[in-house]
Amino acid sequence: MAVSIKSAREIELMRESGRILAMVHEELGKAIRPGITTLEIDILAERLIRSYDCIPNFLHYNGFPASVCVSINEEVIHGIPNKKRVLKDGDIVSLDAGLIYKGYHSDAARTHLVGDVAPEVQKLVEETRNCFFAGIKMAKAGNHLFDISNAIDEYISQFGYGIVREFVGHGIGARLHEDPEIPNFTQARRGVKLQPGMTLAIEPMINLGRADIEILDDNWTVVAADGLPSAHYENTVLITDGEPEILTMLK
Ligand code: MG
Repeated sequence: MAVSIKSAREIELMRESGRILAMVHEELGKAIRPGITTLEIDILAERLIRSYDCIPNFLHYNGFPASVCVSINEEVIHGIPNKKRVLKDGDIVSLDAGLIYKGYHSDAARTHLVGDVAPEVQKLVEETRNCFFAGIKMAKAGNHLFDISNAIDEYISQFGYGIVREFVGHGIGARLHEDPEIPNFTQARRGVKLQPGMTLAIEPMINLGRADIEILDDNWTVVAADGLPSAHYENTVLITDGEPEILTMLK
């Protein structure tokens, strides 16, 4: 498995790609409210991405028909925007978006609360975000890749949630999905040694109930098999000599 090490120039392009995506997510977050359709979210996302002269990398990726994945409640990832899907009070909605800036990809996901959400579901969303940060504490040169996986698992398991295993994080750069794969659960091996210049999309997908998932008849939408809510949190991260740099968050 070859993990690409980005040059100084590539890192600059990835920083800009990530910064733009962070701004896109900020704007999308402001649009989330009961009554908006998932198609309206997609239209806004594509317009925002193109307004920065960037390309939505999810659009047509393996045939995906939209610029952003919009996954509601028990939908884990890869929800297809639709004019008939309307957000309602009490929902959670995961937005996974990415873009290409001058040939370099960024990828990030956020789960938003829609109106008044049950406390146990709010906690799921919060802890899913927190387990990402527990994971990237280990994302330093000299550590090994699966130190990240183990830290995510160790943090999130205390709550009894289900960690989705069929979908994992990934390297990212001149392509959306590069080596290595980054599981969100404990690994027996150590994985590759982390080096400055690696860029990784780390993305825990956490179910309130059991870990099992199913894929709907649209061949895209991944849902929690038990029908309970699921949350997703992702950033594109640069490995450095010191602390990791989160490329898809505004400073
Ligand atoms: Mg990703």
